Amino acid sequence: MDICDKIAAVAKSHGASHVHAIPFKDKNALVMVFQANPGLDLSELDSITERIAKDIRRKGFFARALSTKDWEGVSLRALAESAGIGFIGKSGLLITEIHGPRVRLSCIVTDANVLNGQFKRVENSCEGCSACVVSCPVGALAKRDAELCKEFTQRMEKARCTICIDVCPYSR
Ligand code: SF4
Ligand code: SF4
Repeated sequence: MDICDKIAAVAKSHGASHVHAIPFKDKNALVMVFQANPGLDLSELDSITERIAKDIRRKGFFARALSTKDWEGVSLRALAESAGIGFIGKSGLLITEIHGPRVRLSCIVTDANVLNGQFKRVENSCEGCSACVVSCPVGALAKRDAELCKEFTQRMEKARCTICIDVCPYSR
């Protein structure tokens, strides 16, 4: 098992379902996909990511977990798309092959060589579908206006709008 496989195994042992890396500044960004579930809130995700980073450091490498409170200017969705983990759909969400848009992402910057050339990229295939765009109750996707989405979800108070996730064929 090379170091790339070993680190992927560490991430998977902590619940990541998909791991891939791309070059990032002078290091590599290890992007991890977790299946979204009600128990996996952002603080839990941060603590899992930190545990994985700690395990990588134990192997002798530099590893810094990015916090969900501060992505340091990094768009994780864009990073994951560049890494070939999924594609950013018309909903603006990352659509993955295994969990569709029902994912949480996290990232560790590391100097370990975690690049894996064997990876099969997920190509953009919203083609022929606009289900999320037509189903959005406030037209936020059609108007490309994130504020409309934000205002609507704030009005929902405790509930969270998941319509654009629910109608996506990749959610099934
Ligand atoms: S979360 Fe709801 S309001 Fe926001 S874009 Fe999706 S469907 Fe529209
Ligand atoms: S609902 Fe259709 S258009 Fe929207 S992200 Fe999913 S596949 Fe793409």
